[in-house]
Amino acid sequence: MKKIQVTRDWVLFLDRDGVINERIPGEYITDFNQFRFLDGVLEFLEKASGIFKYIILVTNQQGIGKGIMTESELDLLHECMIREVRRCRGKIDAIYYCGDKSTQSNNSRKPKTDMAYWAREDFPDIDFMKSIMVGDSITDMDFGKRLEMQTVLVGECLGYTDQDVLVDYVLEGLPDLLSVLECEK
Ligand SMILES: [Mg+2]
Repeated sequence: MKKIQVTRDWVLFLDRDGVINERIPGEYITDFNQFRFLDGVLEFLEKASGIFKYIILVTNQQGIGKGIMTESELDLLHECMIREVRRCRGKIDAIYYCGDKSTQSNNSRKPKTDMAYWAREDFPDIDFMKSIMVGDSITDMDFGKRLEMQTVLVGECLGYTDQDVLVDYVLEGLPDLLSVLECEK
């Protein structure tokens, strides 16, 4: 398998549910008590923090638009998540979420690229062509390819059909990303 040549200016974009934590089908995670890190993810984030310039989460959270959770509940959940990542010597530099409902016409949800541009406003040195998008859904892959990122599909591979042109790599989980990286010494 061809590896991704990663230099120190590369950025890792991550989807949340199904990548970082267990997805609960048909439900919204509104509280950190429901939040379960997937196996190996905390160890992965420690290693990845030494490889990538930034690690950035981009997540669709329409539970907000539906009134199932508030933005402050989501912010609190993310604070708890980041605290745990830091305790394990990893980092998440920023989190961008879209709380719009999918039925809202002018939404900012992936695969639309708004969240990536919000990130680049905050971190102007982000180069999308030196970025990797990891997600568990074809929507994430579409988002990544619109920005000319490398795309990595993991976990349940929602919406994936074989040989999909949006997908560069299919891996079992986020921790397996390390096996396809060739890092600058
Ligand atoms: Mg997901």
